[in-house]
Amino acid sequence: MQLLIGIDDVDSPYGMCTTYAGALIVEALSKIEDITFLDYPFLIRLNPNIPFKTRGNGAVAFHLEVPEYYYENLKEIITDIIKKALIKGKRKPEPVIVFSKRENAELRRFYEKALTSMVTLSYAERLVDKLGIEYYALESGKRGLIGALAAIGAVPLEEYTFELLMYRNPSKRGRRIINEKLVMDIDRRYRDYVFANFDFSSKRILAIPHGPDPVLIGIRSVNPLILNEIRVLLARGCKDLERWIIYKTNQGTGVHLKRVLKISAIKPYDSCTISGVISSDPLILKGGHVKVRVKDETGEIDCLFYRETGFLNKVARLLKPGDEVIMGGGVRPASSKHGLTLNVEILNVVKTVKVEKMYNPICPNCRHRMKSAGRKKGYKCPKCGFKTKKAEKEIVIKGRILEPGLYLPSPLAYRHLSKPRRLIGWKGTEIKYLVELWHFP
Ligand code: ATP
Repeated sequence: MQLLIGIDDVDSPYGMCTTYAGALIVEALSKIEDITFLDYPFLIRLNPNIPFKTRGNGAVAFHLEVPEYYYENLKEIITDIIKKALIKGKRKPEPVIVFSKRENAELRRFYEKALTSMVTLSYAERLVDKLGIEYYALESGKRGLIGALAAIGAVPLEEYTFELLMYRNPSKRGRRIINEKLVMDIDRRYRDYVFANFDFSSKRILAIPHGPDPVLIGIRSVNPLILNEIRVLLARGCKDLERWIIYKTNQGTGVHLKRVLKISAIKPYDSCTISGVISSDPLILKGGHVKVRVKDETGEIDCLFYRETGFLNKVARLLKPGDEVIMGGGVRPASSKHGLTLNVEILNVVKTVKVEKMYNPICPNCRHRMKSAGRKKGYKCPKCGFKTKKAEKEIVIKGRILEPGLYLPSPLAYRHLSKPRRLIGWKGTEIKYLVELWHFP
């Protein structure tokens, strides 16, 4: 029988990572002859604005072929692995594993909601009851049910990329020892196939995390065969490598911003896209962040371009009231200091307005610019003293530096789901099958 398995909330701020637990499960299941992986393991990123996330709001799913008689055994193997992987600290993980025997349109809708909004645990509970999905909450809380259920709802992904994740043992702490020059060389050599691994403006390697999790390095790519080549090269330049795995993932696809909302329908924590007109001059806030207001026929909202968005923040300074825009981002709830705010991740300038500037007329006698002679008194030349009531103000159309087009943040500000420029217009990978080597051990 076919089986979908979803896992979430295994990680904690003190270490571990749901993807590492996924790699342990792959190691265990790949030794069992009767079990077949029907696809790569899935790393599913969900709404990046959810406050309960530890880091990147990721959940893991598997699509397997399992003999009926092995089902009970399998559940035991997986729950045992997750139990052993848990690290308990102040923020308790609420891990949940779900087992579903089929794909379902309602699960798919649940994934889409979890990708773009805040969903409630009771909604997830109602859905598992209705669909007869088995789930196991391994600790007292069961918040992980949301991510685990959404992860199986995402399978099979229509649009996807791949990530090679290389791990050290979770007990190892301290600086990761990786040859950074090698990582930069790899980025240069495979640039057509990899993305979001390096930020050139800040010269930062984005592929190497800094937290307590066991990930040594994660390389994102559109091609799992290329990841295999990269993995061989990287293995020579990093210390403490314990295991590696290639995940199929919704990262880099921009799917979290596909929901287009009217401004009046926006709710806290949504990820969405709005379409409207700039209704205020850009305001530069303390710290260099830029705020503008955008309105549509249903309302008006503050839109914030954080300084960290680099290029996007610079572009926002050039917006003018009247410009037509489409913007995508995450919604920050209102507080006593600010209203509901869209933190902008992507900006499409549809149309720019003409900017007119009015000048006092030029003196016909001496070509000097005249001054107002007072209310309803016309103009007076400060150089030659010429006076007139007939002259009109000169209107000059100022050229705009900002051109219509799509503007993205600097890679440093990318979220896991952000679509990088090189993937815009990309039609998807040719490699739809499981490559021979996709994990170790
Ligand atoms: P990592 O990236 O290291 O795997 P994480 O950021 O995924 O960590 P989790 O420990 O998985 O952090 O915590 C995210 C929690 O938020 C999970 O319990 C998950 O079920 C829940 N969650 C995910 N998406 C939503 C959503 N859209 N609405 C409400 N809860 C959500």
